[in-house]
Amino acid sequence: MSATYDETCLFCRIAAGELPATIVHSDDEVVAFRDINPQAPTHVLVIPREHIGSAVELTPAQDHLWGQLLHVAQSIAEDEGATEAGYRLVNNVGRYGGQTVHHLHRHLLAGRQMTWPPG
Ligand code: AMP
Ligand code: ZN
Repeated sequence: MSATYDETCLFCRIAAGELPATIVHSDDEVVAFRDINPQAPTHVLVIPREHIGSAVELTPAQDHLWGQLLHVAQSIAEDEGATEAGYRLVNNVGRYGGQTVHHLHRHLLAGRQMTWPPG
C-alpha cells in the first residue's frame, strides 16, 4: 500500500476497496463513488487516492490533482446527463466549511435546482 494511505481514514479505505461503496470512476489517481446520504438525485464524491486531509493541505505541486478532480467530476456529470441543466461542485474545507470526512473530496450534486446561499 502506498505511503499516502491512512488506515484510519474512511475514504482511503474505500479507495483501497476495503470498505464497500458504489464506485462510478477509478483510475491511478482518482476514485469517485456515490454518497451514502445523497442530497440530490446525483450525489457523487470525487477523491484523490492519496490521503490529503483537505484543500488546506494542497500545494502547487498538486495542481494536476485538483484538475483531475474537476475533469472526473465533469465526466461523471456528462454520464449522468447533467451537463446541460447544470450541477454544483462543492469542496467543504474544515469545521466552518462543514467538512466531516478528513480526506479531500469534491461533491458533485446534480438532478435538481440548487439554491443559494448554501446552509
Ligand atoms: P463532507 O461533509 O463535505 O466532509 O462530506 C462527507 C460526505 O461523505 C457526506 O456527504 C457523507 O454523506 C459521505 N459519506 C460518509 N460516509 C460515507 C460512506 N461510507 N460512503 C459514501 N459516502 C459517505
Ligand atoms: Zn484518506
